[in-house]
Amino acid sequence: MTENIETKPENTEVVLDDTPVLRCNRCNKPITPETAVLTPTGYRCQECVREQQKVFDTTKPIDPVIGFLISAIISFGGSWLVPRLGFFTLFIAPGVGTLIQNAVRLAVKKRRSKVLNTAVLAGAILGSLPFIIIEVLNLIRMPGDLLSIAANLLPLVWRAVYTALVSSTAYARFKGLRL
Ligand SMILES: [Zn+2]
Repeated sequence: MTENIETKPENTEVVLDDTPVLRCNRCNKPITPETAVLTPTGYRCQECVREQQKVFDTTKPIDPVIGFLISAIISFGGSWLVPRLGFFTLFIAPGVGTLIQNAVRLAVKKRRSKVLNTAVLAGAILGSLPFIIIEVLNLIRMPGDLLSIAANLLPLVWRAVYTALVSSTAYARFKGLRL
């Protein structure tokens, strides 16, 4: 590869009519400000950006499905524990997220893509939902007074915390696929 790496934030050039023209800092093609994509290393044309994204997109079509299923199953499994964990959900949930990351990475042989990230995120959220839905329904059906409703809200809060922590940790290490 004979890629010319320039680290200048932007490559501007003044042409005869004094209109600054942007140039792609990878292929040096002139680009208009409308189509230019600003990357951490400067402006790039859309073709170059697309090409670079392909390098990061190494998954097979089945991988997001695998990622989604693994994520959903582990997240669902972990959500059984939440009523017993209470406050300790704060410490266990990130571990469940990390477990999802590692299991998915192993299953897809470290291939990666944005679609896979999204599938893992969706799986983690959906996997934690069944119990939330059941408990919300119970809460609605309950004829109880305000006090007992309040007492039943706390477990639901921990479930929400679980969903937030598991999904964000499961997603965290997969992102960062920058240009
Ligand atoms: Zn280019």
